[in-house]
Amino acid sequence: RLFGELLAHWARERPGDTALIFGDRQWTWAEFDERVRRLSGALAAAGVGKGDRVAFVDKNHPACLETTFAAAGVGAANAVVNWRLSGDELAYVLNDSGAKIVFVGTELLSVLDAIRDRLPALERVVVVDEYESFVADAEPYIASNLDEDDGVLIMYTSGTTGFPKGAVLTHRSVIAHGLAAGTAFPIGPGDVNLVAMPLFHVGGSCYAVSGFLYGEPSYLTREPDAASLFAALQAGITHAFLVPAVVAGIAQAGEAALKAFSRLKYLCYGASPMPLPLLRTVLAAWPDVRFAQVYGMTELSGAVTALDPEAHRDATRPERLASAGTALSGVDICIVDPVTREDAQVGEVWVRTEQRMAGYLGKPEATAETIVDGWVRTGDVGRLDDGGFLFLEDRVKDMIITGGENVYSPEVERVVAEFPGVTEVAVIGVPDDRWGEQVKAVVAGEGLDADKLMEFCRERLAHYKCPRSVDVVEALPRNATGKILKRSLREPYWRDRDRNV
Ligand code: ATP
Ligand code: MG
Repeated sequence: RLFGELLAHWARERPGDTALIFGDRQWTWAEFDERVRRLSGALAAAGVGKGDRVAFVDKNHPACLETTFAAAGVGAANAVVNWRLSGDELAYVLNDSGAKIVFVGTELLSVLDAIRDRLPALERVVVVDEYESFVADAEPYIASNLDEDDGVLIMYTSGTTGFPKGAVLTHRSVIAHGLAAGTAFPIGPGDVNLVAMPLFHVGGSCYAVSGFLYGEPSYLTREPDAASLFAALQAGITHAFLVPAVVAGIAQAGEAALKAFSRLKYLCYGASPMPLPLLRTVLAAWPDVRFAQVYGMTELSGAVTALDPEAHRDATRPERLASAGTALSGVDICIVDPVTREDAQVGEVWVRTEQRMAGYLGKPEATAETIVDGWVRTGDVGRLDDGGFLFLEDRVKDMIITGGENVYSPEVERVVAEFPGVTEVAVIGVPDDRWGEQVKAVVAGEGLDADKLMEFCRERLAHYKCPRSVDVVEALPRNATGKILKRSLREPYWRDRDRNV
């Protein structure tokens, strides 16, 4: 199946129904399909063809979704780039993408102008606000040599554990994700799907495509800020995907915000661990909302497991609230090279599915390290319970090996977080001449006493898991998705050693 067929299908079946809402504007399926085919025509006229890339740098905008579909229509891929990047980072990513045309938001034009002479492959810059004139004279077009395995989206990984890499996602991988997600998170007549997370992540772009598959309206917001979310609720959204940091913001925004969200039908969340106390708060505050937690990654076009609404409220298996759920349809999961711990087999999570990327753009070695015999190595450590529920323990790179024992940093972080005054915590491994690595807690908060904190941990954790040192900082470094950058915390300690931070 191809992206173009998806739009053509709804343009035929439901031409006058709403496809997309953005602020006070909306487009029917017939209009959206027509706009996309005309943009394909404009791209073809500008010399973009099979195997090429275009890029999009702006906050969420309907033109980004149109560009993805239109690029797919000429056999090219849209590299959707994080608009928060600095000039240097943007130059790196745009060069890596090899984009011929960049669509850029007006607010970001000055950042792009400043690096323009460092982008040799770039032929043309189109300001998003002037996009209508780029399309104005174009004839609708769709190439005839398209293939399911053509790249359609270049999605950069979050760069949590290293340099961001561009995952090449295909018609096949993104549509497979949409179909699988739809079984875990069904969208039907009368539903309106909120797309609020950044389109430069799979939780934005691939989630949006999964909503389009079902022919119901999508409601796009520029950013997932409180005002936009509230407006979306007023407009009648029923489904949403949000990351835990955004859910936390809603929970802290007070009674009125909490109440407003209780009207949602489905809330899907994921992309980073959900703190259990927060999950319990929102489960209680929104008794009628159906919750779905998803686990996935850029390289897999999005979610590969889901903890379904029933499991969220299953009083007979409360421990499963801490799990990422079971494999979506078409997804195989295995735990590789496991070690036995408390009766469980813990090891790296490998995933096999059609949702898999074609590879990292221009990085055959990194691709070969990640895709082995058709399986994707996730870099996450996990275990499966008797019902196939996946529990994530840590990232392989964040796990600490001290005196031969594995310490999973989140387990220690959960204890440190309970210490009065701690507002943020990251547990990392630092060099230790005797034990190889030593457990260190990096914390932010009010009036923290390192000795008391370590003592608190000793009362609650096995000796080898306890922090041997504590750094108190103003705030922890995070990336655009709100993920803590442990590699920057580790870096100063490992500078002259051979651990890959
Ligand atoms: P990079 O690969 O560049 O270091 P990244 O892995 O953070 O960055 P993403 O593809 O955006 O980039 O994130 C995928 C990772 O996010 C997963 O491998 C996992 O570690 C984490 N993750 C995703 N969903 C969940 C979840 N529900 N619970 C816990 N962790 C999650
Ligand atoms: Mg990753």
